[in-house]
Amino acid sequence: MRVLVTGAAGFLGSHLVDKFLALDYDVLGIDNHITGTPANLGHLDSHPRFRFVNQDVTRYIEIEGPLDGVLHFASPASPVDYLELPIQTLKVGALGTHKALGLAMAKRAKFLLASTSEVYGDPLVHPQPESYWGNVNPVGPRGVYDEAKRFAEALTMAYHRFHHLDTRIVRIFNTYGPRMRPNDGRVVSNFIVQALRGEPLTVYGEGTQTRSFCYVDDLIEGIVRLFERGSSEPTNIGNPKEFTVQQLAERVLALTGSKSTIVRRPLPIDDPQVRQPDITHARRMLGWEPQVSLDDGLRRTIEYFRAVVAREVAEQA
Ligand code: UDP
Repeated sequence: MRVLVTGAAGFLGSHLVDKFLALDYDVLGIDNHITGTPANLGHLDSHPRFRFVNQDVTRYIEIEGPLDGVLHFASPASPVDYLELPIQTLKVGALGTHKALGLAMAKRAKFLLASTSEVYGDPLVHPQPESYWGNVNPVGPRGVYDEAKRFAEALTMAYHRFHHLDTRIVRIFNTYGPRMRPNDGRVVSNFIVQALRGEPLTVYGEGTQTRSFCYVDDLIEGIVRLFERGSSEPTNIGNPKEFTVQQLAERVLALTGSKSTIVRRPLPIDDPQVRQPDITHARRMLGWEPQVSLDDGLRRTIEYFRAVVAREVAEQA
């Protein structure tokens, strides 16, 4: 079995590559490193079943030989990234998804789209089941990501219905773990890096907004099960345990033992007030649910960032 992962050098892409290699697949990774990090795949340099292609997936993708699966993970995914890269974000969600679907068609391969809880926008239904159509501002700053992913879902379903392609759509909720970039801008990496550097933790708004944080290993397990034995309906994969951003800041301070303070910063425009996946569908179809608690996942992530921050300090010295 041979699969192609776009966005292979990213946080989730690189973990997905590792998982497929561990399951004995041959893996082809594509990335243009616009937000991906070459070091995330550095340990695979001489792996006999892994090959890397440096390419922008919005351009025609030419791959020799058979493929059994195409998993489309390429996209800026952090709010600060897609605000800085709005056109690239729209292009990879629209043109990149089109190219990846076209490749899957040509190879008669299974296709999996990495979609997002952002398709629900600032949700008026809580928790969010897959049947909820969302509350998205198409012209706000987050619209470039939300609408690109909504278009990508529509395109995936069109290929499924019109071309009978075997497709999957995973709606990924907030995920954290090793290999996030220290400057990624997302809340878990920001808070941990700030705590380890002894800088204030930046809570946006009142910190009463909620998110539900899934440890990366749990997420990857859910995605592989969906790929192998799921169906074409969109499927939420995430951890339903919900926390306020303030609570997260306090857990990070407690687990790092940091003396950092907490400061308030303005709430970004259209920042969703609540977010929690309804994972009934994934539980029933895949027998999947998250195993790693927030504290355990944070401990593992803190350990990773301790090494990253120590390296930075050593380089500056
Ligand atoms: N957030 C925060 N401080 C930060 C970064 C993010 O308070 O340094 C908040 C942000 O406003 C949002 C939540 O944390 O309410 C999650 O933000 P993130 O960028 O991780 O992802 P999102 O879920 O918004 O896509």
